[in-house]
Amino acid sequence: MSSEAPFVVVGGGWAGCAAAVTLARAGRPVRLVETAGVLGGRARRVPRHGLLLDNGQHLMLGAYRATRALLATLHGTVPLDARRLALVPWTATVPGAVSLKARALPAPLSLLAGLATAHGLTVADRAALLRWFVALSRSGFACAAEATVSALLAPLPAPVRKMLWEPLALAALNTPVDVASGQVFANVLRDTFAGDARASDTLWPALDLTALVGDATARYLAARGGDVLLRTRATLAAGATPAVRIDDHLVAARGVVLAVAPHQLLATLGDAPDADAVREAVALLDYESTTTVYLGYPRAPATASPTRFAQLDAAPGQWLFDRADILARAGAGAPTIGALYAVVVSADGPHLDFGPPALARLVDAQLRQLAPDLAPLMWSQVIAERRATYACTPHSVAARRGLAAAMPARGVRLAGDYVDTDYPATLEAAVRSGVRAAEALLHDTG
Ligand SMILES: Cc1cc2nc3c(=O)[nH]c(=O)nc-3n(C[C@H](O)[C@H](O)[C@H](O)COP(=O)(O)OP(=O)(O)OC[C@H]3O[C@@H](n4cnc5c(N)ncnc54)[C@H](O)[C@@H]3O)c2cc1C
Repeated sequence: MSSEAPFVVVGGGWAGCAAAVTLARAGRPVRLVETAGVLGGRARRVPRHGLLLDNGQHLMLGAYRATRALLATLHGTVPLDARRLALVPWTATVPGAVSLKARALPAPLSLLAGLATAHGLTVADRAALLRWFVALSRSGFACAAEATVSALLAPLPAPVRKMLWEPLALAALNTPVDVASGQVFANVLRDTFAGDARASDTLWPALDLTALVGDATARYLAARGGDVLLRTRATLAAGATPAVRIDDHLVAARGVVLAVAPHQLLATLGDAPDADAVREAVALLDYESTTTVYLGYPRAPATASPTRFAQLDAAPGQWLFDRADILARAGAGAPTIGALYAVVVSADGPHLDFGPPALARLVDAQLRQLAPDLAPLMWSQVIAERRATYACTPHSVAARRGLAAAMPARGVRLAGDYVDTDYPATLEAAVRSGVRAAEALLHDTG
């Protein structure tokens, strides 16, 4: 680290990593401070029994431009395998199932062609969906600020709502549709289905989430004279110039990015004098959980979906991801399983009342209903993130507005998924906010 006061980034999630990389790329010395023993925050590696799991199943989309740009900076090329979006049930036995595959055409043709060949929708359903999408597109994907996802989808026939958009909205916003923000969901639809030809692709990393961003960020900083302090807590120190307190030491900084999760912000802000509006905004946020149930089997059932992720019947698992990639990276001592599934349950619900073994058995029984030839369950691991995301309600959008420009103290900027009001709590929102905070600091400090 040079003798020049560094820029300090507090929090090593994807927002903090994006901020640190943006500052280092501009030739500035950067110190990234993280309380955990590993970088990644809510998108990190969790080693269990020789398997490098992720703390939760994450899905990335072609529309994640800032994330793709960050990965290109870190890895040279984007280490993601892009596949056409295919919304298909895990097995044909899901009642009333709708399946839709986007096509390799520029938007909105990819969605339209997908609709034309979708299964489970009547001609009238398709026509209604088309009219609704065209009307939304003509409005510039704008809806009333207080509208919920349910209100946005109300004009659609029940099968389109229930089998297609509501499960997608719940997955994207991690918030029940009757309270989730219609405008934020419209923004996601805009970028995914009215963006460029590959915007609706799903992106699959060949690495675990910490290797993808956290480890690569640490290498990037080290190569440019910066450093990472793990297992270290930093808090903002009040004063006329930017500074943080690390292990009881006052560290002067050229500028500070606070990139902690919203529920961690109050403790990190210390007694910053100009932060009351920020404190009030984050105090208004509620949180939703996301639970990932990893299930290992000796082999895949013959009836399983041929796609890498598939829709379930929400009882309680909502989406199933085939994590053959984790098995391919398995280390010594890993269980000898032939098929590894990550089953996701978004948002809070009765599933949280079950302990991990009971929930794993429940999801196994759910899969068995759909695929009776499923082999006996061999191994399971449940990871419940209780504060996976803030609840993305219209109320939260209003509360968070203005945080991107907020300066809780001189030379201090905020980053984190909650700072971006265009997107829900996602990797893309986190990365965008980190880049913006770093750019604002570079601008502030000349
Ligand atoms: C289970 C799960 C599934 C998800 N699925 C998806 C998905 O499919 N697609 C998608 O796009 N998004 C998904 N998300 C959301 C996404 O992971 C988050 O939006 C994103 O990771 C938030 O990043 P962040 O940097 O804003 O915050 P965080 O990742 O929370 O980072 C904040 C960091 O700050 C650290 N910290 C806190 N206080 C201090 C301090 N005082 N000093 C130093 N460090 C501190 C914390 O330890 C943490 O590492 C999911 C999230 C979860 C939990």
